[in-house]
Amino acid sequence: AQDDIDPLVKEELLEKDRKYVWHHMSPHNENPMIIASGEGSWVTDVDGHRYLDGMSGLWCVNVGHGRREIAEAAAEQMMKIAYATLVQSHIPAIELAAKLNVWLEGEYRIFYSNSGSDANEVAFKIARQYHHQNGKPSKHKFISRHRAYHGNSMGALGATGQAQRKLKYEPLGVGFQHVPPPYCYRCPFGQTKETCSLQCATAIENAIVWEGADSVAGVILEPVITGGGMLVPHDGYLPAVRSICDKYDVLLIVDEVICGFGRSGKPFGHQNYGVKPDIVTMAKGLTSAYSPLSATAVSAELYDSFKEKETTSHFRHINTFGGNPVSCQVAITNLTIIEREGLVERSAEIGQAFRARLEPLNEHPHVGEIRIFGSAMGIEMVEDRKSKVPASVERVTTIIQACKRKGLLVGKNGDTVPGYANIITLSPPLSSTEEDVNFIIETLLSVFSNEQEKG
Ligand code: PMP
Repeated sequence: AQDDIDPLVKEELLEKDRKYVWHHMSPHNENPMIIASGEGSWVTDVDGHRYLDGMSGLWCVNVGHGRREIAEAAAEQMMKIAYATLVQSHIPAIELAAKLNVWLEGEYRIFYSNSGSDANEVAFKIARQYHHQNGKPSKHKFISRHRAYHGNSMGALGATGQAQRKLKYEPLGVGFQHVPPPYCYRCPFGQTKETCSLQCATAIENAIVWEGADSVAGVILEPVITGGGMLVPHDGYLPAVRSICDKYDVLLIVDEVICGFGRSGKPFGHQNYGVKPDIVTMAKGLTSAYSPLSATAVSAELYDSFKEKETTSHFRHINTFGGNPVSCQVAITNLTIIEREGLVERSAEIGQAFRARLEPLNEHPHVGEIRIFGSAMGIEMVEDRKSKVPASVERVTTIIQACKRKGLLVGKNGDTVPGYANIITLSPPLSSTEEDVNFIIETLLSVFSNEQEKG
């Protein structure tokens, strides 16, 4: 393969990696895979091994790897102007904000930042300030859900509903309350599809009432909890949460960091449920991760209260790199590719292929449920289908490693915690070809079938 390198050079790289690099979110790893290049849905490591990038990196490379058109747009923008502040304005920020309004099918003001975590921090600050200058300064709390992930900074981690990511770093941003998520396979309220009365939505209402509506600023949620286990809610859940928010003057903040930009089979995840959020946060697929950029889209009605000319009402938030012209130009090019190649529709097609052709896995003794939203998929593994005891870490790891040996990279939810990390996740590039999708499906079928033979 074109990317394989001299074993001595690889050893040197590993030496330096061991000595100098602190890897994200992982135990100390003496022998990491070192990625060298990528093309379409495939990445190649320094040994020349090719892998289908079944997670699009971290749910983010929506248009696939190696897009020369994006690289050229970035280079051209760098030569025009690589940096300008958003205290004033610049052309790519303006054009991108206008384009995002088309994607959002509504009227929103766009505040740019660098990462998904940043975008959520901005949403929390805007929500608090909005209530403050609308005569309700005591509204400051946020309701989130168990299993949710909203980022790594102190506020966004406060909103996160996964203890193992928070312990050792507390105290975090305060004022975040968590309620059970819509997790129909293990309904926290003991209901089934037939008996469901959306008690998970009522749990949000109860939290608002018991915290005191006068103290609650917003609800934050992903349309579908992705990294926390691909929890696809009942169709009525989001509309019910929207009406609860309206009833108590609580803002609905929808985190589209993963579900946005076609992943869900619609431009944004919430559009599958016909609700209009007050605030939408986005990152990852906004640039397909070719350059860091995030955004907080704020409804025009909300923005109105920040428009006054007195300095008391402006939003006192700034970051140096947010809305960098190169990143904005990368985002415009990325969105143009998604539109031109019909990748939102392609995402839905990929999900349909998964649903139809992975049907046999529904009979597998260690598959509890397969959940699909657009082209994102979670395969919940169990020890036993009847008792639904979550699969052991070893069982899940065996599947992930077997996929990797066959050239398919897949992910899983959360940390390596027994009884929690039992959901295999996939979210391949939306540009995946028929051949790529066949490869994913055939690899999964074969790996699960081998696992079944071995017991
Ligand atoms: N929200 C969600 C739903 C996410 O999945 C993530 C990242 N995985 C974030 C926010 C935080 O984004 P970032 O890592 O860019 O800060």
